[in-house]
Amino acid sequence: MGVRQVFVRFAGCNLSCDYCDTPASGFDHPESCAVQIAPGERRFKELPNPLDVPTTLAAIINIELESPGHHSVSLTGGEPLMQAPFLAELCPELRKSDLRAYLESNGTLVDALSDALPHIDIVAMDFKLESATGIKPATEMHREFLAAAVAAGKDVFVKAIVTSSTAEEEIEECAAVIALAGRRIPLIIQPVTSTNANVQSPFAAQIMRLQVAASRILDDVRVIPQCHKMLGLI
Ligand code: SF4
Repeated sequence: MGVRQVFVRFAGCNLSCDYCDTPASGFDHPESCAVQIAPGERRFKELPNPLDVPTTLAAIINIELESPGHHSVSLTGGEPLMQAPFLAELCPELRKSDLRAYLESNGTLVDALSDALPHIDIVAMDFKLESATGIKPATEMHREFLAAAVAAGKDVFVKAIVTSSTAEEEIEECAAVIALAGRRIPLIIQPVTSTNANVQSPFAAQIMRLQVAASRILDDVRVIPQCHKMLGLI
């Protein structure tokens, strides 16, 4: 938190969370792709989709040159692992340019993770809670996903979006699954920013109860709001 990243947002997702803030990229395959030309100023140029790896790499490097010092390149979505072969081609090129690959995933595509994992530096896995997503939990897939990332020696953390409907039992179950892979894996509890009637932000006391409950199981549980929304970066 507090460092800059280059965001590469992949179209397409295998889930449909109630709180999704990127349904345009999550569910559609747009004809063009907006590439930022002035960091932070929301000025873009449009390129035809799909972008190939050299074009994507050139856009990333250009942003780094314009505004040096990015922590990493966030490969996000949608669900980037739906395009694992593209990642396997792009990520080694990032390393050659001294940029780190930070995978942000919904933690459900375990086979695709195996293909991309050798080329990824940091794995940020979303743990999908039913109270927030409104869809069936993917607990076993999350367990396998984390086990694979830890076994590969990656820098790993987990994020769980919580809402006014999230109960302590649900976050305890989440924490217990994470602990199977390692109780030192950080868990970020992220209060949702309400975007529709199905998704309400939790109250402060509730957030604290969730943190206390998870902290009985894990060593490092933090509460971090959706900063990109606070800063108007989306
Ligand atoms: S996994 Fe992410 S991109 Fe996909 S529907 Fe859920 S919030 Fe949206």
